[in-house]
Amino acid sequence: MRIPFIAGNWKMNTTAAEAERLVLEMLERLDKIEGVEKVLCPPFVSLVAISMMLENSSIKLGAQNMYFEAKGAYTGEISPLMLRELCGFVILGHSERRWYFGETDEQVNKKVKAALANKLKPILCVGERLEDNEAGKTEEVVSRQVTAALSGIEPVRDLVIAYEPVWAIGTGKAASGKQAAATIQFIRAVVAKLWNKGIAQDLRILYGGSVTGANIAEFISHPEIDGALVGGASLKAEEFVGIVERTAEIKKRTK
Ligand code: PEP
Repeated sequence: MRIPFIAGNWKMNTTAAEAERLVLEMLERLDKIEGVEKVLCPPFVSLVAISMMLENSSIKLGAQNMYFEAKGAYTGEISPLMLRELCGFVILGHSERRWYFGETDEQVNKKVKAALANKLKPILCVGERLEDNEAGKTEEVVSRQVTAALSGIEPVRDLVIAYEPVWAIGTGKAASGKQAAATIQFIRAVVAKLWNKGIAQDLRILYGGSVTGANIAEFISHPEIDGALVGGASLKAEEFVGIVERTAEIKKRTK
């Protein structure tokens, strides 16, 4: 049984005070929702304060990125050693990192290895750009990204994959549930080939890209889709809690 998973990626939004306010607005209701693993990924500067706020709650914490070295002369970077004291998850290979900051498949692979070595669970993001999608290259791109990111890594269950088509992120143009489910099924087959069928069946694979309270049901009602990585809508307490509540209801019904 794969436990449904919803993560909120706040990206480069919220000052420290705003982040605390946002957590306070959702904490009580989010904490009570059962049957869904809930993860908040605020900016680095809020991790310490929010880790304290989430203590004794059912809500987990994640970072949005990290460097792969443990420590040293890497000005401005944050290491797995620093994160592992604070959070259990880390988003890696987000398309904004790949396309705005030139992160390569090789770097993503090093980061996944470093995260796992430090007991941080990667939320590995993959997804094709619009031109790849239009050229019919979605499977080729995600297969390359997944294979590269997991290269040289022994099969592990402590990993979540998020299929996030770049054209759907922050655009308001989500993929259809059917499209997302088909690509997620394909990703599962890639993992089965790379590792084995058992692990592939156990891994949570999420959809991400313009998920809202209004469309979450379309994704979550596909048994193949185990949850969502939510960007913009995770910055609105009411909407994010609604997404998690809806996920809990639908997944319970379709178990
Ligand atoms: C994301 O940042 O991973 C994301 C999916 O963003 P949005 O929900 O805003 O499209």
